Amino acid sequence: MKSVSATGFLDLRLPTKRVSSFIINLASSSWPNRTRYSANGAMRNYPPSIQKLINQFIQLPGIGPKTAERLVFSLLYQPQSFLTEFGTSLAQLKDKILRCGQCQNFSETDPCEICANPQRNKKVVCVVGRPQDMVALEKIGEYEGVYHILGGVIDPLEGVTPDKLTIKVLLERIKANNVSEIILGLNPDMPGETTMIYLTKLLKQLTGLKLTRLARGLPVGSDLEYADEVTLSSALKGRREL
Ligand SMILES: [Zn+2]
Repeated sequence: MKSVSATGFLDLRLPTKRVSSFIINLASSSWPNRTRYSANGAMRNYPPSIQKLINQFIQLPGIGPKTAERLVFSLLYQPQSFLTEFGTSLAQLKDKILRCGQCQNFSETDPCEICANPQRNKKVVCVVGRPQDMVALEKIGEYEGVYHILGGVIDPLEGVTPDKLTIKVLLERIKANNVSEIILGLNPDMPGETTMIYLTKLLKQLTGLKLTRLARGLPVGSDLEYADEVTLSSALKGRREL
């Protein structure tokens, strides 16, 4: 029965009991088409083949559930020929790529193209954290020495301790090739600086070894990979002795 409120209008408000039961139904898992999220935040009401690929993309650095979903759906719109080629590239990635026994970079040959190049000065070694940093320095086209890839930087919070890096191989290389200069080409951020301090202490003990680091132009906290070529070139030329 409709009631008339104090204002004179028909009171169409739902009884409190009915409103609360509506909210409970809305929030319950029986609500149709309700999106559910798994522990890692990914939606889990996709078909299994889609969900599996989303979960695999989430394992990669910098990819969250939303990005993973976007990538998987963009793949669904690609022609089958692209997907087959993409799958083959993934399957063969580790078959074709190996580690250069000298610089520890990923390569299809051992030694890699740079280490095998007789024009390169093996007595000057630029130590970088990741292969991407080496590529960034190579783009300048001015460096004639070789590289050493540490495979990361010292970062105890992330569980990266010196023994996890290729420091032992670096020391062996210095001795075997009678290296005259080590250029510390690490990012000027906290882990990069920590690594450079560690390496400086270690390498200072070796007599006759010149120790330098990239200097001018690189702002504190920056990433070598994203530095422009002019800035990197300036940093390489302006390296200072430690
Ligand atoms: Zn190499």
